[in-house]
Amino acid sequence: MSEPLLRAVGVRKNFGSAEVLRGIDLEVHKGQVVCLLGPSGAGKSTFLRCVNHLETIDAGQIWVDGEPIGFRLRDGKLYELKEREVARQRRDIGMVFQRFNLFAHRTALENVVEGPVRVLGTAPETAREEALELLDRVGLAHRADAYPAQLSGGQQQRVAIARSLAMRPKLMLFDEPTSALDPELVGEVLAVMNTLAAEGMTMLVVTHEMGFAAEAADEVVFLADGAVVETGPPGEVLSAPKHERTRQFLARVL
Ligand code: ADP
Ligand code: MG
Repeated sequence: MSEPLLRAVGVRKNFGSAEVLRGIDLEVHKGQVVCLLGPSGAGKSTFLRCVNHLETIDAGQIWVDGEPIGFRLRDGKLYELKEREVARQRRDIGMVFQRFNLFAHRTALENVVEGPVRVLGTAPETAREEALELLDRVGLAHRADAYPAQLSGGQQQRVAIARSLAMRPKLMLFDEPTSALDPELVGEVLAVMNTLAAEGMTMLVVTHEMGFAAEAADEVVFLADGAVVETGPPGEVLSAPKHERTRQFLARVL
């Protein structure tokens, strides 16, 4: 198989005396969807935050597209990146959170245009055209001029996805993107994520939506107490889990 787009090796993270990640090994290959499952407090969000430079790790290494996160590899040695270089690495990674975090005083279109213009230096007119295309892809071209407060939670989350995509990420991280939504709005967001997956986007998705994991995931990783308990295709991990811990978790969420 190809070199993984995301590779984590022995990742450890402590908060004070709490060992929150206890040596995580995880790979996501290009074009793959990996679903990260596990009980609350397992360390799922912390892991995503480490990938996206929102936390620094205490041991191990994370590589994205062959580059160590936060470091530059030269002559076999790792050098810590300067802030500007960290920003460049972060641009390659899109992240969608449980809460949509849209700019409240900007329209849907302005929310999507902002990053490319400000960060990538895209010409405003080009950014606008691309943003309209992206809003169309998430089914919201007709709401381009609406403010977040005028949109449903599902629509806001779809704008948030479009806003992430506008930065042309190599990798998309999703942290329980549907958990804050009313049940009837979950489907429209999962549909957009399914489309992205089908188009070949590389995705690491923390979710409790087992239907999505079963359908869209190439691999499922079950995390508990900061460690990977088991990993494999959804047909195995979800239908015939090997570990008692996984069985207990699935019995509660399914
Ligand atoms: P999950 O997303 O799987 O529910 P988290 O990664 O949010 O789990 O949290 C894992 C553990 O790390 C929890 O016990 C949580 O309280 C702790 N934790 C997360 N962030 C911090 C922080 N900034 N400071 C201290 N403890 C934290
Ligand atoms: Mg979490």
